[in-house]
Amino acid sequence: MQSSVPVYSHSRLSAFEKCPLQYRFRYLDKIKRDTQGIEAFMGNRVHEVLEKLYRDLLAARRPSLDELVALYHRNWEAEFSDKVKIVRTERTAESYRETGEDCIGKYYRRFEPFDQASTLGLEERVTVSMDEANRYRLQGYIDRLARAGDGVYEIHDYKTSASLPSDAHLRSDRQLTIYQMAVQKRFPDAREVRLIWHFLALDRTLTSGRTDDEVAQHRRQTIRLIDAIEAAKAFPSKVSSLCRWCDYMDICPEFATPGAGAAAGVAVATAPAGGVKVEATVAPRPPQPVPGPLQRLAELHERRRTLDAQVDHLRGEQAGLDREIAAIEAEVLVGLPPPSAAAPAAPMQPRGRRRIPERAPGQTAEPPRQRQLFST
Ligand code: SF4
Repeated sequence: MQSSVPVYSHSRLSAFEKCPLQYRFRYLDKIKRDTQGIEAFMGNRVHEVLEKLYRDLLAARRPSLDELVALYHRNWEAEFSDKVKIVRTERTAESYRETGEDCIGKYYRRFEPFDQASTLGLEERVTVSMDEANRYRLQGYIDRLARAGDGVYEIHDYKTSASLPSDAHLRSDRQLTIYQMAVQKRFPDAREVRLIWHFLALDRTLTSGRTDDEVAQHRRQTIRLIDAIEAAKAFPSKVSSLCRWCDYMDICPEFATPGAGAAAGVAVATAPAGGVKVEATVAPRPPQPVPGPLQRLAELHERRRTLDAQVDHLRGEQAGLDREIAAIEAEVLVGLPPPSAAAPAAPMQPRGRRRIPERAPGQTAEPPRQRQLFST
């Protein structure tokens, strides 16, 4: 029997978690908006250029950096309009444009000649079901899918944001975990799937992986969240700093009534006629009413996901510590005389359940442990 549950995407799930009312406007009422934040606009232009780079490489042609930058500026000029919103008034359209160019240059110089892995797909649409009955389905688009060796697949994601997420945040990332599920389904030989985020503006690449348990945990959480959305009868507003970028601020009851935004703690200035700037600054909010059960449920899901990831991360770190302790003990304790022998016992570390001698002066440190999440 055909499921009546829609095909979800990571952005659709995130929209509900961030603000159920915005979710309703976009996905249920299907209210169209033709404006776009300049961050998304710039990100789209950068994605286009990196897609062009790899499409040319697939055709055995390597475009120069100058060609790609020229393409970026052509696309920018062709697409830019007064529908592009600048929320951060301390920045200009030109400064965003320069950031995008910088992202392309850094990526190009870092990865040229781009032979680290074989590209399998660009803007590759993937779908995956969370359950056997095919009721909970998700879809998404992978920026670049690649094969790095027999059974080793890479999911590349380009970010143009100016800040790095925490390890815990990356480990709990749902979007690329969903893509991993899709890749594992499509390629039964996949013995390793690498999740790779390129933080282009910072010239940093973060790589992570997911264990089978972590994938299963994400699957369960996603099903629970879809259940919550499908069961929702009310879609309350959820005011936050993200309201500044919301396309529905003009019809949101928190802001649509003159003075309502101020009451909610958000000051909004009208855009100049024909201009591109939208000023919206978020001030400290007064005490908020107790959230409704639906809002609370979304918050708890988000919090639960973060905590799960942190717990898993700590378990991994604990296992690594145990291995390191065992290795050091094997190295330094074997062959030592028993404590009753003439030589005095080495001083104890102030904490810890095991007896470990202090490191001798000049003794080299242990090499750093391999971490599942690493950056370059
Ligand atoms: S302006 Fe804020 S509270 Fe209103 S719909 Fe948008 S995100 Fe939700």
